[in-house]
Amino acid sequence: METKKKDIRALTKDQLRDFFVKQGDKAFRGNQVYEWLWQKSAHNFEDMTNISLKTREMLQDNFVINHIKVDQMQRSSDGTIKNAVRLHDDLIVESVLIPTPSRTTACVSSQVGCSLDCKFCATARLKRMRNLNPDEIYDQVVAIDNESRLYFNRPLSNIVFMGMGEPLMNYNNVLKAIDKITSPEGLGMSPKRIVVSTSGVPKMIKKMADDEVKFKLAVSLHSAIDEVRTSIMPFNATFPLHDLREALQYWYSKTKNRITYEYVVWDGINDKRKDVDALVDFCKFAPSKVNLIEYNPIDDGEFQQADSKAIDMYVKVLESNNITVTVRRSRGKDIDAACGQLANKT
Ligand code: SF4
Repeated sequence: METKKKDIRALTKDQLRDFFVKQGDKAFRGNQVYEWLWQKSAHNFEDMTNISLKTREMLQDNFVINHIKVDQMQRSSDGTIKNAVRLHDDLIVESVLIPTPSRTTACVSSQVGCSLDCKFCATARLKRMRNLNPDEIYDQVVAIDNESRLYFNRPLSNIVFMGMGEPLMNYNNVLKAIDKITSPEGLGMSPKRIVVSTSGVPKMIKKMADDEVKFKLAVSLHSAIDEVRTSIMPFNATFPLHDLREALQYWYSKTKNRITYEYVVWDGINDKRKDVDALVDFCKFAPSKVNLIEYNPIDDGEFQQADSKAIDMYVKVLESNNITVTVRRSRGKDIDAACGQLANKT
């Protein structure tokens, strides 16, 4: 039965070479197939035209290629594209292409749903069903790279792991996907153009530092006051700011990479002077910058973006403390592709 066959992209290059040797073929055949699978993103074995028909049939008998399928593509009036991506088991995740005049960024998912329960996030309403495999993460990037070339005449330039799921709760697969994305045998992208955005899992931030990863780190902070943060991100009760701060200091001491804090200012939640003062203090623990992100209300409208006076106060206070701050407009609101809106509504 088709489902009993092994996913060929779960094999490493060495395992693929060994497989061919055991079949009485040359190890080199493994290199050729590997290239088809990753560099050329072949969707099926018939595409592998420099492999003999007999070998392709043998592969067909033993393996499947669980390629994702872009089920539905929506384009926003601002150029943003949202893909609803169907996985081999019919689950759906979403990924987003965000164009600006100088770059194209892919926002990709790492899990189907999410086990964390951030109160402002549409994805949190979908229970976590499973982690994505490395190839499913890789395929989202390839799909967006293709769309970028097709609609914007340029390759994808940046990747953010800010789609559905908490990437550090699927760390091994995210790392394997990034290996493929950055490898010359995959997409050959620079790790400096990749940002992994976490809600802040201290143990895993330390592990990333120990693993000497080369990509950048962003933390969805949203409040530097434990009580407030726990009320909007309940897992903060388990991983309080003290632990997060210690992990981030460790990250910086090992990587020397400055941290980006993603931060939304909500009306009546974190829009007071004490909130920005706490953020300033938090920023002092390790070199960092702050992205103030525009919020897009989800259905029940419980969370509302603070008014421009509160944003101005944040910018003024942060800048007067020599902290770099950028105010980021949200993109793709009309197609529910903006930050915190990914919830398979298509
Ligand atoms: S914000 Fe991120 S970590 Fe929090 S529930 Fe949404 S997807 Fe999960």
